[in-house]
Amino acid sequence: MSLRLILKRSYSAGKKATTMAGSNEKFTKVFNKIDELTPKFVDRLAKAVEIKAVSGDELLRPEVVKKAHFLSKQLELLGFEDIQLRELGTQPPPVNNPSLQLPPVVLSRYGSDPSKRTVLVYGHYDVQPASIEDGWDSEPFKLVIDEDKQLMRARGSSDDSGPLLGWLHVVQAHREAGVELPVNLITCFEGMEESGSIGLDKLIAQEAKGYFKSVDTVCISDNYWLGTRKPVLTYGLRGCSYYEVIIEGPGADLHSGIFGGVIAEPMTDLIKVLDSLVDSQGRILIKGINEMVAPVTEQEKKLYDDIEFSLDDMNEASGSETCLYKSKSDILMHRWRFPSLSIHGIEGAFSGSGAKTVIPARVAGKFSIRTVPNIEPRKLDKLVIEHCQSVFESLNSPNTFKAELIHDGDYWISDPFNASFTAAAKATKTVYGVEPDLTREGGSIPITLTFEKELKTNVLLLPMGRGDDGAHSINEKLDLSNFVGGTKTMAAYLHYYAESKEK
Ligand SMILES: [Zn+2]
Repeated sequence: MSLRLILKRSYSAGKKATTMAGSNEKFTKVFNKIDELTPKFVDRLAKAVEIKAVSGDELLRPEVVKKAHFLSKQLELLGFEDIQLRELGTQPPPVNNPSLQLPPVVLSRYGSDPSKRTVLVYGHYDVQPASIEDGWDSEPFKLVIDEDKQLMRARGSSDDSGPLLGWLHVVQAHREAGVELPVNLITCFEGMEESGSIGLDKLIAQEAKGYFKSVDTVCISDNYWLGTRKPVLTYGLRGCSYYEVIIEGPGADLHSGIFGGVIAEPMTDLIKVLDSLVDSQGRILIKGINEMVAPVTEQEKKLYDDIEFSLDDMNEASGSETCLYKSKSDILMHRWRFPSLSIHGIEGAFSGSGAKTVIPARVAGKFSIRTVPNIEPRKLDKLVIEHCQSVFESLNSPNTFKAELIHDGDYWISDPFNASFTAAAKATKTVYGVEPDLTREGGSIPITLTFEKELKTNVLLLPMGRGDDGAHSINEKLDLSNFVGGTKTMAAYLHYYAESKEK
């Protein structure tokens, strides 16, 4: 491949900045070195994505482990120290192989100067499953460079191998440019993120006063720009509380020709309960939930004004014109800072084609609530369960009823004007020439909260890729300009953070 030629054109991100930050010699040196080393960085990414590190596939577990070893080798080559592959034990059920080992977490340090601040960088080296039969344009575990579109396509390119390697590349560029890294860096790279980050919470708690003792701030690069043109920094994530309502009646599934009309049907009761949760405008009907939501402040309202987003973007993302809101701020606020309730499915229901006349004996309705500040999870559970209970009781049904929480993860919100965010905003401006949009996300990254709680530090979400990278989809890609620009942003962030006064 004519990589050199392609990459020459891909240097747009940061070129302007190199001259903008011209007075700052260290930026110029580091940025120029990143440009120069880009073919090597692409090469390293190509080697990384060739390893089929699918954490959700038990048979591919050796590949996930192989990728941990690959990373450890790269860290060693780049002068990282105290490299540890931390075992997390066997994977808890449900698993086919009861002795299946979890992939290790890769810990390492670069520098341990007590006069410098310490930044913990998190990334994950496992990936989502992918196969060419799913409709990929090329083999998913081979990095393909699309010259026309100036992008690299492969599973893991954007989620999260490209961003993860970005930190290694920042160190390499500093070393080769002869510029001192302004902070101590600690890496925490996990191999189970796509499968619930099993075991990582415990490790973080254990190491809060051990390996992670000196950490001043945490930077996670594992999300995306909102769109495709403007860089963002992310300061909030919604939580998720997932519930089920189980209604049981007859001893077995029955035939409606024989039993229809003479027995109480669980499905009928369940539909009534589910119907009482949310209306077609997306309004949650359970009393007390909306009352817990933090009011929108003037300062927050202003943040939405500059964000580059439109109804068209929403329609494109959903592949329809079914959006409940028209204005940008309404759409984004309902996606990021208001709760939502979604009904996901009914276990035990007839769901095939055709016209089966079954009366299901036991049905379980599944729904979840995306939570936001200041919803208290235990209070929410109580409201939800009591609501379902009272609706069911009003039906006077002889069936049995149970409502319960299946799992939950709390929301996360940070101060987008703290030292870490301010440093990242300056870095973005230096590299891309624009102020980043301050965004939240509708989904959750539970590990964010764990770092914050256990290490008692701020967490910054600094994305490298774009909103259309297709992270969990076919043809996942990372634009070359994001790979280069993202790496430069990471580098500049460390410098600005080191210079900032407050922690
Ligand atoms: Zn990810």
